[in-house]
Amino acid sequence: MKKISLGLLLLFCFSLFAQENYPKDAFGPPMDIPIILAGTFGELRSNHFHSGVDIKTQQREGIPINAIGDGTITRIKVSLWGYGKVLYIAHPNGYTSVYGHLQKFSPAIEAYIKKLQYNKKSFEVEVFPDYGELKVSKGELIAYSGNTGGSAGPHLHFEIRSSISEKPTNPLMYGLDVADATNPILEKLFAYPLTDKSHVNNNYERTQVNFSKQSDGTFLADKVTALGDIGVGFIGFDRLDMAANKNGVYSVELSVNGKIYSLYDFESFSFGETRYINTLVDYDYYGRNRQKIQKSFKSPGNNLSIYKDLYNDGKIKINEGLSYTAKLLIKDYAGNKIELHIPIKGVKNLLGNKKEITKTDNYVIAKKPNNFDLGGAKVYFPTNTFYEDFYIDLKKGKDTVTIHSNTVPAHRNFTITFDVSKYSKEEQKQLFIARLDSKLRPNHANTYKRGNEFTTRTRNLGTYTLAKDSVAPTIRTKNFKEKQWLNNYKYLSVQIADDLSGVDKYSATLNGEWILMEYEPKRNTLTYNFDDKIADQTQCVLEVNVTDNVGNTNTLTTSFYRK
Ligand SMILES: [Zn+2]
Repeated sequence: MKKISLGLLLLFCFSLFAQENYPKDAFGPPMDIPIILAGTFGELRSNHFHSGVDIKTQQREGIPINAIGDGTITRIKVSLWGYGKVLYIAHPNGYTSVYGHLQKFSPAIEAYIKKLQYNKKSFEVEVFPDYGELKVSKGELIAYSGNTGGSAGPHLHFEIRSSISEKPTNPLMYGLDVADATNPILEKLFAYPLTDKSHVNNNYERTQVNFSKQSDGTFLADKVTALGDIGVGFIGFDRLDMAANKNGVYSVELSVNGKIYSLYDFESFSFGETRYINTLVDYDYYGRNRQKIQKSFKSPGNNLSIYKDLYNDGKIKINEGLSYTAKLLIKDYAGNKIELHIPIKGVKNLLGNKKEITKTDNYVIAKKPNNFDLGGAKVYFPTNTFYEDFYIDLKKGKDTVTIHSNTVPAHRNFTITFDVSKYSKEEQKQLFIARLDSKLRPNHANTYKRGNEFTTRTRNLGTYTLAKDSVAPTIRTKNFKEKQWLNNYKYLSVQIADDLSGVDKYSATLNGEWILMEYEPKRNTLTYNFDDKIADQTQCVLEVNVTDNVGNTNTLTTSFYRK
């Protein structure tokens, strides 16, 4: 007993320590422009919480980025996806700062990476420099802001992680100066009956509740009648000063008659738990309406560590004849808040029996592996693919498989296997598995071909089909014409595209020597920088090779002059 108490005490001290130990004055800002956020830490993204802040860069690229503190660069990555060009700095105080979607690095780091890219003959590279090999000091220029990787517009993605646990932490806790005197905004409120016998406003389903602003600035919901275990959820966002962006809120507290039932905030989380976001949001509503309801109660399978306080998993037990006041308190990091009161009265259920749930031929048990043979196609869900057991809707059409719909989240990858034996070996070469998007356009899914079986691994429910790509990628010059003199040109630009399966790989040579061409999939361009000084001669021959995801290849050979 003594040992356990001591352990608990230590744990308690550690968490106290961890919360208050964020250094407030150690770091400077990553840019010299005013810090305005287009995205906050913990913001609800698709299948993950945002692990940093997105800092606006005045709608342009090329803003100098400075190291926020003394340190050593521990990782540099150039990727077509994700963070694009990204740089990690470990600081002596135990934190690592991360700078993503960069346009380019500082001249010294750019030279370091270029050397690696030419050695590996690859645009995409990742390197972990030795500790102390690339030292930086506070305020030193390290890069320029950009829009590389999975970025929809120019901005800096900025993170501060614990160097040891790699847990991302809220960058606003380190004294970053962000103007925010604007309250969060509440858009919609919902109440949920959580058992077979519960009801809300004589309804067995998620029920929207109206609310209005009171003269004291708080909000008051319409009176709710209910019985049994119920829950509360909302759609809302935070607005910061000088920005129209809908950012995520910092903390959400639900209390009932003065007692806190649930409280979570975005101080920190781990990458390992980020996908559990699909248990915090109402995934069914998201799948149908593309809007995220944040639930103040814990649903099955929710393993999130963001809760600071939890009573009865945030579920409110409503008894007949009794009255309750639930209070939802939503805050941003600066402490601006909205307060909503929900009057609830315990009233008998007048509905009768709950209506039967829709049954299908197939039932999935979340805690077991589930295998389905649909004739011509197979679907395999490993243990814990899903959070809950449910009747799954599986349909097989000609070369298509429909796996339920995107209203149920999958936590783990599952596999879909097509039997392609009815196709000739030649036809099979051009076939791939595609996922149909909401507009029924086929999107290439990584297809593993083994004999007459094509398999893909995915975490997205929906419709998959066999698609055929027989057309090679297109390649054409963009900023020059054949046999042109390019004396004052800084760049060579080439446009590449593939209509169906997408570009898989590319390479380029200048007079027979490999050159680095940076690929920007968002603009379908390959760019060569003449500063690389490869094959600097008067008559130049450029050759570009592009291969799509089923192996169709195209080559462009063109020439130009340069003195
Ligand atoms: Zn970001």
